[in-house]
Amino acid sequence: MPRKRAAKLRCPICKKEVKLKDPNAPFCSDRCRMIDLGKWAGGAYVISSPVTDAEEPIREDTPENSGNNH
Ligand SMILES: [Zn+2]
Repeated sequence: MPRKRAAKLRCPICKKEVKLKDPNAPFCSDRCRMIDLGKWAGGAYVISSPVTDAEEPIREDTPENSGNNH
């Protein structure tokens, strides 16, 4: 059974743990925040921006994140 994690969130973009006090919460970084904004902005944003990170945000995981789920 996992320990309580009352003081932590998970970034909705890359699933990385985020502290509640993080200025970017609930995102792990300003970059993930921008990716999320891009998603909500709808297709127009993506179409007008040929180069975007919004296509594969999950691949942004750091190596240490791969075995740190439990
Ligand atoms: Zn993130």
